[in-house]
Amino acid sequence: MRLNILFRVGLIGTVAFVYLALFSIPGETRDSRVCGKDVELRLSSSESSQGSLLLVEVHSTSPLAELKAQWDGHTLLFWRENSQENVQRALLGVDLERPAGQYPLTVAAQLENRERVTCSAVVSVKAGRFAIERLRVRRQFVDLSPKNLERTARERQRLGELFARVTPERLWQGAFRVPVDGAQAAGNFGRRRVLNGRPGMPHNGEDFPAVAGAPVHAAQRGRVVLADELFFSGNTVVLDHGLGLYTFYGHLESIAVTVGEVVEVGTTLGRVGATGRATGAHLHWSVRANEARINPLGIVRLPAD
Ligand SMILES: [Zn+2]
Repeated sequence: MRLNILFRVGLIGTVAFVYLALFSIPGETRDSRVCGKDVELRLSSSESSQGSLLLVEVHSTSPLAELKAQWDGHTLLFWRENSQENVQRALLGVDLERPAGQYPLTVAAQLENRERVTCSAVVSVKAGRFAIERLRVRRQFVDLSPKNLERTARERQRLGELFARVTPERLWQGAFRVPVDGAQAAGNFGRRRVLNGRPGMPHNGEDFPAVAGAPVHAAQRGRVVLADELFFSGNTVVLDHGLGLYTFYGHLESIAVTVGEVVEVGTTLGRVGATGRATGAHLHWSVRANEARINPLGIVRLPAD
């Protein structure tokens, strides 16, 4: 995977343009660029296409007084690693329907001596190669009654408002895990779906087929912000991990947590089921980062602290 980035490095009074072509490393693409004399901007990603997750890292020689990043109209929030006070990280999600193209990422930092440093990188997003999947589901889930149309519109708005809320502190700590033990991902993230012959929304998560009743675990520490029955996803739990990162667990047979509860990694959230629009027992797992629908396996691959 090749990612071309144009870095614009600007210190007050001096502006330099540097072209950078990221090279391919199996499993991970990583590069860094000096961004002013005391600050370095690094981007790491296993993919740079629709639905991918990028890790933004800012390294400085001394602690920064202030650090901000902007991507696609969103402010990305940084967290500081416990052991490394001069390293700050932020997540950058690329939505699965983001048109392929060049998108700027701007980073502004203030050093302890009040000097300001700005960097901007143009991240090139490539189209994901998503298969088309034809499914047959119960008619009521395709030909919605006026009552269900109104219900789904309300639920879509509720979820949209929820994912747009950014909790300023990071609630997770360490690596993210797959929520079902021993289950294999179906590899169906992003598939363009045709339901009963009609084009539907792309599949915004990964499905994990599993036996009904198998426990579904929290992928990481977070706060339960939704535990409810929704029309399409049936019994659903949503966790807020802070800094704009959310995980979503759908089609549950039963829910074992309540809204407001802070759960630890591995906590049982409920049981695998087939509630809502499901063709069989499985977990539908999806992730939002800065509102972008990203491949949930992207957070499992994140380096842990
Ligand atoms: Zn699904």
